[in-house]
This record gives sequence, structure tokens and C-alpha cells, in this order.
Amino acid sequence: MASVSLYLPNSKLYFENGVAAHPNSSLSFKSMLPGYKRKRLSVRDRGTRPKPVHISNSIAAPSHTFDVVIIGAGIIGLTIARQFLLGSDLSVAVVDKHVPCSGATGAGQGYIWMVHMTPDSDLWYLTMRSHKLWEMLAESLRDQGLNPLQLLGWKKTGSLLVGRTPEESVMLHRRVEQLSEAGLRADYLSSDDLLLKEPELMVGRESGAAFLPDDCQIDAQRTVAYIEEANRNFAVEGRYAEFYNDPATCLLRSGSSGEIEGIQTSRNTLYSKKAVVVAAGCWSGSLMHELVKESNIALDVPVKPRKGHLLVIENFNYLHLNHGLMEVGYVDHLEALHPTDSALGMDDHAQTLSVSMTATVDSAGNLVLGSSRQFTGFNAEINELVVDRIWKRAGDFFPKLKELSLTDLRKSRKVRVGLRPYMPDGKPVIGPVPGLSNLYLATGHEGGGLSMALGTAEMVADMVMGNTGNADYATFAVQGRCC
Ligand SMILES: Cc1cc2nc3c(=O)[nH]c(=O)nc-3n(C[C@H](O)[C@H](O)[C@H](O)COP(=O)(O)OP(=O)(O)OC[C@H]3O[C@@H](n4cnc5c(N)ncnc54)[C@H](O)[C@@H]3O)c2cc1C
Repeated sequence: MASVSLYLPNSKLYFENGVAAHPNSSLSFKSMLPGYKRKRLSVRDRGTRPKPVHISNSIAAPSHTFDVVIIGAGIIGLTIARQFLLGSDLSVAVVDKHVPCSGATGAGQGYIWMVHMTPDSDLWYLTMRSHKLWEMLAESLRDQGLNPLQLLGWKKTGSLLVGRTPEESVMLHRRVEQLSEAGLRADYLSSDDLLLKEPELMVGRESGAAFLPDDCQIDAQRTVAYIEEANRNFAVEGRYAEFYNDPATCLLRSGSSGEIEGIQTSRNTLYSKKAVVVAAGCWSGSLMHELVKESNIALDVPVKPRKGHLLVIENFNYLHLNHGLMEVGYVDHLEALHPTDSALGMDDHAQTLSVSMTATVDSAGNLVLGSSRQFTGFNAEINELVVDRIWKRAGDFFPKLKELSLTDLRKSRKVRVGLRPYMPDGKPVIGPVPGLSNLYLATGHEGGGLSMALGTAEMVADMVMGNTGNADYATFAVQGRCC
């Protein structure tokens, strides 16, 4: 195979046949090669172990050995890699069929919010823990004299969950009480108070909002770039490598113990000493199906792509927002997912489109308007009718926007589309795969993967390393949900 080298200017890394290597260090690349001896990243003596069984067809390919191999370089896969690199001395490889941000992550709006979460729900503790970890990351950057706004797009704007009917106001009052009891700073804003906070918002007499001053936001693409860069620092020690544009194609399973020993990609054989983690977003179901199809393991990961559009208006000064905003309807359509909808087949969902208003201003001063949800398979094309619905819905809340048409904004508008990894019961699936020792799943975060990433990463690393951890693993277990 011809050698392909690609230099990414920001990364200070060269890519050789899809493998990342530090330009100042021949060590990192060499240490991934069979036979190269290095203290912590030992390469297995392939002659002394039983020949692995390839669960699917395989090809002869260069082989490399790591402690952990992660499939998927979205926010979930990359933060899991980060957690192993920072919290252990294990070596990690990240594999992606394309590049980071080519999945749902690249489309994410970036809110790290608690305002729409329900205390004591299944997602509550994971989201709370993640929120805390994001705060700690921003704080640690500040402590090092770095700027979290620049590196992560980090902004502590606070969030407003806005209602416009008496029923919604009652619901918001109750939510504020619950959030306060759970220990968060939360206030109910009457229509007058709301207008003071957001003068551009159309506020009627019945309007009100739940206000969480400590809610924050990140810029998904900046954050991914920061995490990648930080992970790549470990390439110098030979503890980290990336295999991009190199899809995982099959699992390697030990002929004697049945343990998962690694994966085959289209160009490489990657052995793993401790774990293979599948964090392939909405592709995890079809990928797992492919990976186990020739084994006798029955596994059906019911994760499905849930398409979302976001409308970005660059350098938009026409409307001024002080906080992140979300309409109450957003919570409704999240909660409508479960449990009743889980009984519906996908055909019942097919093509149903819902749009609810979310509005943020990102670190570059762009207005980001969301968002839509629909089931259209793996199609990620822009649908202008959906974009128009998002714009009109935003106009219902911000009348100033009605003075402009999307055609006027054609030069400054961008549309982002992503496929959220949707689980019918509304919870991610995180944990070991029964019957396939050393194989773990981490997917199904739907519209909350950015928020829940750091907590998920901590949980996966704890599971693999046998740490007790604080999280309730059972809630997210594979067993009983995918088998
Ligand atoms: C419009 C929109 C707005 C959103 N806003 C927010 C928000 O504000 N806050 C929030 O918390 N969340 C938000 N989300 C949700 C969030 O973006 C997702 O939950 C999260 O990005 C999922 O991350 P992931 O790593 O699981 O999946 P992905 O980002 O999809 O990554 C999966 C990766 O796996 C790779 N892959 C697939 N198959 C293979 C294979 N065979 N081999 C190797 N690699 C493979 C893909 O190429 C991809 O890079 C939003 C989503 C959308 C669509």
C-alpha cells in the first residue's frame, strides 16, 4: 500500500497511513510497530498467544498494540481517550471511519445545561457529574493562565427555559422548586423579570421562565480540537495514536478464551490488551451488528439516527441575547421519547418533524438557532424546509427576526446537520457487552452527548480499570436493553 502522509498545521502531527505520529518523535510511531520495546507500551509477542479468531472477514494489515482501542472520534470517543490518558498509564488508539466532528458532534449547539433536566431522573446524576467535570476543566485552564473561552468556546451565560402559557408557568414553578431542592441555583422569572433579562424576547402576560445562572456552553468544534491536541501530547510517549479515515470492520476474538483481542480496520490490525470501546454514535447499532454477525452472540443495539438541523448566522449583531434560551416545548419533545414512544416501531416515527426553539450566541459571536428532530434514516442532507421552520419558530420568540428573511442572510448563514444517537428508552447505553469480554459500548446520548461526555468518559474508564466509581452503572447497562 502506498504511504500517505498528511500534515495538519494545528496539530503538529504527521499522519502516515492514517496513524498519527509526532514530527519530533520517531518514538511514537516506532513504538506502535510490532517488535519495538518500550516501558509502558509493550507490544505483544504474537508468537506466544493463540491465534485470534476474526469474527468477520479480515485482510493482512500492519498491526499495532494498545491497551485500549476506541471506535469513534466523536465527543464520546475522544473524551474517553482523554480520561484514560490523564487518569491511568494505559495506551490508547482512536479509530474513525472519517475524522472528528464528522458525526453528530460537529453539529452540536454546545449547551451544557441542567435547566431542562429532571432531578432524580435516570440522566440526572450523569449530567450533573458531567456538568461539574466541564466546570472543573474550564477552571483548570484558567488556573494555568489559559483562556477557556478561546480553547473550548466556554461561556457561563446561564440558561432560560421559557414558557408562554399558564400551564407552562405552573410547570416552570415546579421545576424551579425541584432544581433548587436538588441544590442548584434556580429562579422563577415572571414576565417582567424575564423582559429585564432578555429585552429582545417577546414576552406576554402569561410568560415566565426558569433561570439557571450557572448553566454554561461550549463550542463543540473548538472543544474537540482542544481535546485532540491534548490527547496528542501523549503520542510523544507512545501512549496515543489516531487512525482516521480507517473504518473498523471486524472484531478479533481469542480462539481459546473467547476474549475480544482487538479490531480489524480497513487498513490496520489493532490489538487491545484491556478493552475495545465502541463509541460510534448512531452507527453503533449497525456496526455492532456487523462486528458480531459471525459469532453466536445475540446483540441488537437499538440506537437510531435522529436527524437535527441548526441554523447559524455569522457575526449577527442585529439581535442581542444575554443568555442561552430554550422553549418549554423542547422538554416536551425530549420527554415524549420515553417511555411510551419506545413501544412504537420506527415506522410510526418515520418522517415526523418537530422543531423547538433554542438560541445561543457562540464564542465567535454567531447566533445559533435550533433545533429540529426527525427520523430519516442515515440521510444527513440539508432540508431547506426544515431550516425555514427553525427560522420561523425563532421569529415567534424574537419578533425582530421577522424583519429579516433568510434570503437576506444567505451570505452569512450556515446550516449544520447531525444524526443524534437515539435510544428508544431515552438513556445512553454504557457498559460491558455480555458474552464478549473486553468489549464495551458507550453511545445513545441523543441530544445530550456534549453535556454528558465527561461523565460518560469517567464511567467507562472506571469500568475498564475496575474502579468502583460513584455512578449507577445499572441504569445504563447493555444487559436487558440490547440483548
Ligand atoms: C443539531 C444538534 C444539536 C445538538 N446540540 C447539543 C447540545 O447543545 N448539547 C449537547 O449536549 N448535545 C447536543 N447534541 C447532541 C450531541 O451532538 C451528540 O449527543 C453527541 O455529539 C454524540 O457524540 P458521539 O461521539 O456519540 O457520536 P458522533 O459525534 O456521531 O461520533 C461517532 C463517530 O463514530 C464514527 N464511526 C462510525 N462508524 C464507524 C466505524 N465503523 N469505524 C470507525 N468509526 C466509525 C463516525 O465517523 C463518528 O465520527 C446536538 C446534536 C445535534 C444533531
